[in-house]
Amino acid sequence: MLYIGNHTTSSKGYAAMGRQMVKNGGNTFAFFTRNPRGGNAKEIDPEDVKKYLEIAGEQHFGKIVAHAPYTLNACAAKENLRVFARETMADDLRRMEATPGNYYNFHPGSHVGQGMETGIEKIAEILNDVLTDEQTTTVLLETMAGKGSEVGGKFEEIQAIMDLVEKKDKIGVCLDTCHVWDGGYDIVNDLDGVLEEFDRCIGLSNLKAIHLNDSQNGLGSHKDRHAKIGEGQIGLDALVRVVRHPALEGRPFILETPNDDEGWAREIALLRKMYEE
Ligand code: FE
Ligand code: FE
Ligand code: ZN
Repeated sequence: MLYIGNHTTSSKGYAAMGRQMVKNGGNTFAFFTRNPRGGNAKEIDPEDVKKYLEIAGEQHFGKIVAHAPYTLNACAAKENLRVFARETMADDLRRMEATPGNYYNFHPGSHVGQGMETGIEKIAEILNDVLTDEQTTTVLLETMAGKGSEVGGKFEEIQAIMDLVEKKDKIGVCLDTCHVWDGGYDIVNDLDGVLEEFDRCIGLSNLKAIHLNDSQNGLGSHKDRHAKIGEGQIGLDALVRVVRHPALEGRPFILETPNDDEGWAREIALLRKMYEE
């Protein structure tokens, strides 16, 4: 079963996002839990959630992948920014329980000159503050391109964070194809090797979701500029091999390509066709 969808820009609620995704040919999706630059979140309407769950049930949706705001930096140097990160995550996780059993993805953070080790410790500290035994959401650390002082550009860094987290059954990883490529992992010529390395460091059972993006830049460029599927330096063939890889079977694949709904619908249809072949 292929679960594929896009990061939806709709902000009109769960049912609207579900309906748009059906139109796009998708059966999963990603969305920002609030304004990507932070700020307050809208209260969740139980009627809207009920309608969404009906659509998701009828259409056999896979798990959905919420995305934390970009501005959330769990290893910021300034304490007020870490308070924001902690409170935002805790609030998002509370709100996610309206749609139980899904994923909440976040960028680990940027250590902004404090050093990788301090960054890793601070991120784990926030996770230990916000994760609860009761939550049904799995929190996903996203693999990053290693731009600037980003933490999570190497599998070892993700692993180091996870090692420090107490509630290990509440966390996992979201692999972004553009980010790992930009980070220096050659998924074009050696996808098996990259997944083996992931398995050695983090464990493939912890790989819960994929962000499927092409990249405007070359291997190891550390740039993080997404491209449409087949229009970047990763290319269609390599991305199809990702979608079809047996080790990734059943995971939600989320397009974060620079598109509108028409473009996403085309990419979803193309990838579904290539998956079947
Ligand atoms: Fe992301
Ligand atoms: Fe991503
Ligand atoms: Zn990105």
